[in-house]
Amino acid sequence: MTANTERRVLLAKPRGYCAGVDRAVQTVEIALEKYGAPIYVRKQIVHNVHVVKTLEERGAIFVDETEEVPEGAIVVFSAHGVAPVVHEEAQNLGLRTIDATCPLVTKVHKEAVRFAAQGYDILLIGHEGHEEVIGTTGEAPDHIHLVDGPDDVVNVTVRDPEKVAWLSQTTLSVDETVATVEKLRERFPKLTDPPSDDICYATQNRQVAVKEMAARSDLVIVVGSTNSSNSVRLVEVAKEHGADDARLVDYAEHIDPAWLEGVTTVGVTSGASVPDELVQEVLAWLYERGFGEAEEIESVSEHMRFSLPKELRKDLRITPV
Ligand code: SF4
Repeated sequence: MTANTERRVLLAKPRGYCAGVDRAVQTVEIALEKYGAPIYVRKQIVHNVHVVKTLEERGAIFVDETEEVPEGAIVVFSAHGVAPVVHEEAQNLGLRTIDATCPLVTKVHKEAVRFAAQGYDILLIGHEGHEEVIGTTGEAPDHIHLVDGPDDVVNVTVRDPEKVAWLSQTTLSVDETVATVEKLRERFPKLTDPPSDDICYATQNRQVAVKEMAARSDLVIVVGSTNSSNSVRLVEVAKEHGADDARLVDYAEHIDPAWLEGVTTVGVTSGASVPDELVQEVLAWLYERGFGEAEEIESVSEHMRFSLPKELRKDLRITPV
């Protein structure tokens, strides 16, 4: 608890949109402008309720499976990536595809393909059922074994303990992943590391920023959706690093005033799929209840940008929008 009784707000930076989400959302927006509605999107383009709702209002149709898309229509693959079999299905159905998979997810897919070609068993640290994990596993289903956290390490079986590599989902808790890798290395001393971090820069930076804020906050509010892995991790990281309480909300109106009882300092941040307007609404909500202007705490400066998917770039060159 802070000794100061003045009600104040700390605002994490970086927060919100990462380069992969920005690119994926722009992809659907530009596709709608260029080709007209409807544009089909397989799965949620990014894991955020507000983004999906806004794009739906503009003419995007979200489907769970490629077979729900009518023949000849355009389908965008989400930022989380898809297994090769999904590309094949789309081709067989005569669909026009635009692949908005984040380049940092594609990097993990390529690592999986390379390790599999070299005969490794690949221990993929990630959350069961997450779309990114399903997509990555589809690159080498006979080689990849999911490891869902440190407690799952005992369940792993491999063909040759001398030839084992690990990879991870891009949006995990950095600390928990380190703990999982340590346990894996105890079981498999010859464990091979990925060539570079799989947990992406945006996930890492948002966790660094929330850690810095958490110890000074009575309550941390994370703006994000419940199916957003990196947003849920921010809540966990905030609690582990000193916040008395941390809550996830999609919208300001979801904040329960009871959470603020006895609270002097509120930390605010947002997941990588969250537009900043939703954070500003939270700040306004707090301001109306006697909290001061937000003090921004910048821990890392971010400049990452990704170019649009190649299918879109190609068409945009023919007829610029
Ligand atoms: S969170 Fe990371 S991996 Fe996911 S879309 Fe953003 S930059 Fe890409």
